[in-house]
Amino acid sequence: MDKFESIGEKMHVLATQLYPICRSITGEGVRETLSIVRKQIPIEIREVPTGTKVFDWEVPREWNIRDAWVKDPAGNKIIDFQDHNLHVLNYSIPVHRKIELTELKKHLHTQPEQPDLIPYRTSYYQENWGFCLPHRQYEQLEEGEYEVYIDSRLEPGHLTYGELYLPGKTSEEIIFSAHVCHPSLANDNLSGIGLITFLAHSLLSEDRQFSYRFLFIPGTIGSITWLALNEDITARIKGGLVASLVGDPGDFTYKKSRQGNTLIDRMVTHVLKHSGTGYRIIDFFPYGYDERQFCSPGFDLAVGNLTRSQFGQYPEYHTSGDNLELIRPEYLEASFQVYRQIVDILEQDGYYESKNPKCEPQLGKRGLYDAIGGESDRKELQMAMLWVLNLADGQHSLLDMAERSGYSFELINRISKILVEKELLGKCVAK
Ligand code: ZN
Repeated sequence: MDKFESIGEKMHVLATQLYPICRSITGEGVRETLSIVRKQIPIEIREVPTGTKVFDWEVPREWNIRDAWVKDPAGNKIIDFQDHNLHVLNYSIPVHRKIELTELKKHLHTQPEQPDLIPYRTSYYQENWGFCLPHRQYEQLEEGEYEVYIDSRLEPGHLTYGELYLPGKTSEEIIFSAHVCHPSLANDNLSGIGLITFLAHSLLSEDRQFSYRFLFIPGTIGSITWLALNEDITARIKGGLVASLVGDPGDFTYKKSRQGNTLIDRMVTHVLKHSGTGYRIIDFFPYGYDERQFCSPGFDLAVGNLTRSQFGQYPEYHTSGDNLELIRPEYLEASFQVYRQIVDILEQDGYYESKNPKCEPQLGKRGLYDAIGGESDRKELQMAMLWVLNLADGQHSLLDMAERSGYSFELINRISKILVEKELLGKCVAK
C-alpha cells in the first residue's frame, strides 16, 4: 500500500479492483474477491460443501458463469454479459435457444423508474434464467426471433467465505461482517468489504483488549452458514456491526440491534452524536442485511447495521448506477473513522475510582489547570474534569461519564489519563 494514500483512497482502490468481478452467493467470483482481500489482511478462506444442512437451510449448488448474450432477429448482440455483469439474472441456469419476443420478455427484467440503468436481480433458490437491461432499451425491442445464450454451470461445489480472527486479552469478541455476493455494485457490497478490510488492517499490529472477528460472507446464506457452524462461539460475542453502504454521500444511518440498548448501540449513538455530521438512528426491523440472522431470536446478538444511506433508499440502489463514481474516498474515509472510533471506545473504556472522593480535590495546587493548558476551550475542559472526578466512583465507565456529561468519549478519556497521571484517579480492574 502506498503510505501517502488516505484510507478512503485505499478503500476506493480496493473497490476498483473488485468491481469487475462477477460475484454471487457461491462460485469463483467470491474466491477471486477473497484472494484480493487476502493481499491486505491474512483472512482464512473457508469452503462449505453443497448440501450442508445449516439450520432450516442447505448450502446451495455452486454457480459459475463464463458468458451470456441475447442476439436480435438480425443477429446483433444487443445484451452482452461481457459489457456488464448485471445483464444476467444472477444464478441463471444455462440456456441456448431461439425464442419469440413475447417469450423472451418473460425473462427480461427492467426498472421503469430508472429507465437508463440496468437493475440487479437474482434467482438463487428458484431455477430460472433471465437478462436485465435498461427499460429504455427494452421498449425499443422489435418483434421477431431472438437467440439467447447463457453459458453457466450450477453444480455441486462449495459456499466460500472469508474469516479473520484477531485474538485480544479477553476472549470476548466483537464481530464485523460484510457481504461479498453482489456483482459490480460499489456501495452495496464493495464499500463494506473495504471498510472491514482496512478496519482489520488497522488492528493487526495493535495490542488488543477485545478479540475481533471479521467475516466476509455471502448475504443471508453466508451468515446462516457461519452461525450454524460456529454456534459455540456466539456466547463470546459481545457485539458487532454489519458494514454496508458506507461510500455514498448520504447521512449516516444506524439500525440498532434487536435488543436496542446494548453497549454497541450506545457506542455507535455516542460516536455519531459527536461526529459533526448528519445521522439518524432507527429501531431494529427484521429485514435488511445479515443483522437479521445475528439478531434472530435464537441468537439475539448485539449486532447493529451502520450504513450511510439506508438500503433501498438511494436512487442507484441495486442498479448499474451503484458504481465507482457513486462511492467517493472522502465518504469512505469518514465512515472508516466512525467505525474506528467505535473500536477506540471499546478498547479504551473502563472504570475509574477517585483517590480523593470526599469533596472536590483542589485542582490548582496540582497544576491541573496547566496540565490542560494550551487548549482553546479551557472552561469546557475544566467542566469535563469535574464530571470525571465526580463520576469516578467505580460504578461509571468512561462511556457512562461521556453520555451523562454530554462531552465526547475522546475528551473524557483524555482527561481521565491526566487525572491518573496526577494520582487523582485509579483504574479499577476490568468489570
Ligand atoms: Zn443488496
